[in-house]
Amino acid sequence: MLRFKGKGVYGAIAIGRASLLVKKSDEPSKRVNIESVEGELLRVTNARKKAHSQLDEIYKKAILEVGETGAQIFEIHKMMLDDEDYLESVESIIKNQGVNAEYAVSVASKTFSSMFENMEDAYMQARAADIKDISSRLISCLSENEFTEVSLKESSIICASDLAPSETVALDKSLICGIATVYGSVNSHTSILARNMNIPAIIGLGEEFLNAVHNGDTVAINGYTGEIFINPDKETVTSFERLIKDDKEKKLLLETLRGKENITLDGRKVNLYANIGGVENLGAVLINDADGIGLFRSEFIYLESDSYPTEQKQVEIYKSVLEAMGGKKVIIRTLDIGADKQVDYFSLEAEENPALGYRAIRICLDRTDIFKTQLRALFRASIYGNLSIMFPMVTSVWEVEGILEICEEIKKELDREEIKYAKKIEMGIMIETPAAAIISDSLAPLVDFFSIGTNDLIQYTLACDRQNPRLDKYANPHHEAVLRLIKYTVDSAHKYGKWVGICGELASDLSLTEEFLKMGIDELSVSPSFVLPLRKKIRETDLTK
Ligand code: PEP
Ligand code: MG
Repeated sequence: MLRFKGKGVYGAIAIGRASLLVKKSDEPSKRVNIESVEGELLRVTNARKKAHSQLDEIYKKAILEVGETGAQIFEIHKMMLDDEDYLESVESIIKNQGVNAEYAVSVASKTFSSMFENMEDAYMQARAADIKDISSRLISCLSENEFTEVSLKESSIICASDLAPSETVALDKSLICGIATVYGSVNSHTSILARNMNIPAIIGLGEEFLNAVHNGDTVAINGYTGEIFINPDKETVTSFERLIKDDKEKKLLLETLRGKENITLDGRKVNLYANIGGVENLGAVLINDADGIGLFRSEFIYLESDSYPTEQKQVEIYKSVLEAMGGKKVIIRTLDIGADKQVDYFSLEAEENPALGYRAIRICLDRTDIFKTQLRALFRASIYGNLSIMFPMVTSVWEVEGILEICEEIKKELDREEIKYAKKIEMGIMIETPAAAIISDSLAPLVDFFSIGTNDLIQYTLACDRQNPRLDKYANPHHEAVLRLIKYTVDSAHKYGKWVGICGELASDLSLTEEFLKMGIDELSVSPSFVLPLRKKIRETDLTK
């Protein structure tokens, strides 16, 4: 038995047979001298046409499986196939070196993917996988090979060095029970697709993993812990079988909680909302029966875009979320980039301490053009549902005054243009810095609600960079300092008759649910899959004890 550990990107457990995904196009393309440059360029044109029509098909399949936003990556692949720089590079290798198209594409692929890999921004680094994906497709079309050599006959755990988004969607979903890759990033579209397809997935297992695993090996995968066992011993198989059974039972039991109230045994009701990063998560919100959306991280719209998303594009996204939620509350947080979320086209300067740097509302209050575009889109979309707007990374009263002033300007602008917006839009702020928590009694009169961002509140209170795994033992989320700040924030909000929720990961920590409810928390917002377990916990809690 061999054990490997990576990063779990979707929590579920499975045992299955390993199926190694070997890409023919992974094999280096041989360099062959050609006689007719014109003929070779024509082969590239024809292969591109074929690749385009394959991508059209994959796009249609992806829409059904992962929704419009998830499927958009394949539209982007089509654009990448037509990218002038990429094509020029392929063509000039053919012309200048007199070599075959397959070889030219593989060289261009290496150049462009390493360019992306060397970019600082994690999102842009993840685009290297897309370049490799379209190049592999082009080579397979040139060689008339099947794109990937995997035909699944039984329930399999796909083991690969990396998995391109198009490969993930093309696989027969009914026969995949897990995904394990050597590389990959949590931000990659493949991870996002795996999550949306509810497949246990582990990335970053290291090169040794692929040397150790063979087709047909029994593999046990735990997407919760990131652990994977190759040919597990009897004991491990038994413990996995128990875990799978428990997981299934838990999920079945939770089904019965759909439609039920979030109410404690002694009658305290609490709102239970879900956190999302995009339209593609809406299905999970509805399936898990959240009462609303407590945090829509709108920065993902910017992260997934190559340039500033227009007002109209944003209106459409916000509108679709509001409409899908059919009148339930939707709290959209304005742009929170900077720190670990970098967007190239913002051209932000590199910083020594980005988490303590130029991020979120600090950028928005400076670059009001970007902020106003987003606010106009939010106000315009507000007529389609029950919208609340929330602002991240507040530390001072003057920031909130500045934000509200800009909102008033936007309203006047829209009035002048006779554009409609909802008359009542709740305005709230995130309490995610110790400063905001400590002055929460001064902030409360200015806003309609608070949402406590414990992910950042913990890092700033305990001086522990949330990206640094070495600080785990210091970043104690149950630290008295954090809990006192939360309690003080709740008291401040209630003193002024405002409601207060938690949207950081701590909201789903069931060992704290009772304490939060005793503090008086009015709302908890968690990842969609945590909604029902949390509902169960709330319904079993008795606050009188
Ligand atoms: C938080 O800081 O707790 C939060 C919800 O925001 P994010 O994780 O996006 O920083
Ligand atoms: Mg935060």
